[in-house]
Amino acid sequence: MQPFDRRIAALEAELAALRAYPRERLAGIIAEIGFFCDQCGRCCTREYNDHVFLLEDDVDRLRADAPDLLRPAPDPELCDQHGRCYVSGYALATTPAGDCVLLDEHRRCRRYADRPAICRVYPYMLHREPGADGRVDWRQLAGLGEHGDYHRPVAIDEAARLADETIAYEAAFLEQTLGFYRAASGLFALEGLRHVQKRRDELLRAHVRGAPLDVMVYHRGQFEPAESGAMRE
Ligand code: SF4
Repeated sequence: MQPFDRRIAALEAELAALRAYPRERLAGIIAEIGFFCDQCGRCCTREYNDHVFLLEDDVDRLRADAPDLLRPAPDPELCDQHGRCYVSGYALATTPAGDCVLLDEHRRCRRYADRPAICRVYPYMLHREPGADGRVDWRQLAGLGEHGDYHRPVAIDEAARLADETIAYEAAFLEQTLGFYRAASGLFALEGLRHVQKRRDELLRAHVRGAPLDVMVYHRGQFEPAESGAMRE
């Protein structure tokens, strides 16, 4: 088995499971939860979320009018034996405190009408992950009971729309991650590279302390050198 085959197979299985998940079930859960955003703004801060991961369409839109807001996403998945890291996409820049750079002083989004895809579906999600009890299962809402209001009526049409948008986001995220691993698999084979986890972990620890990082960012089938290796402000 090639180095990345196991990861690619796992991602393909996740994508197949996502596509088999009944949209009506997710819409029913969304309606039952009745989440209501009370605009506390906390989901845009480090208190709740480490960074805003961007899909390729988000990146293309930001490149057109705010390219300085793009950063390599934190925690690159791969690092070769020469110390070059590889990450599956871009993230939005953050303030020195770690909050989203687009959050204004009134805790409102400066780009709300054109906010990234993840911000459109949040707090809804549809992926499998371990819960507090360690059991791996589908999760449909981030931060349940920790923000916003609940048990508000949600029209069935609106619940269906939110379910569609959430599934589309999760599928696009998995497809982008799959594209990353497939491209890395080809590049590593072509150039005789190998992933060295220990080197990656050492370099990331040094980066947190201020050392520069040589990082390539996956975007639309290619790896781009990051203009700034800084993943944190
Ligand atoms: S882009 Fe806007 S909605 Fe998304 S995290 Fe930043 S401030 Fe919040």
